Amino acid sequence: MICPICNRPLKSKKSIERGIGPVCAKKEQERENEPPEGQLSFTEETVLVIK
Ligand SMILES: [Zn+2]
Repeated sequence: MICPICNRPLKSKKSIERGIGPVCAKKEQERENEPPEGQLSFTEETVLVIK
């Protein structure tokens, strides 16, 4: 079993059950907490105001 994100072998049983390594699992959770779409729309509004 290999982590699909970093291509490293999963050693622990929990990681194998998840199908993802512990470090990559934390990164995925951080992405869900901070969606990049909201930041993009904010910058787009700022550009419109400047114009
Ligand atoms: Zn990984």
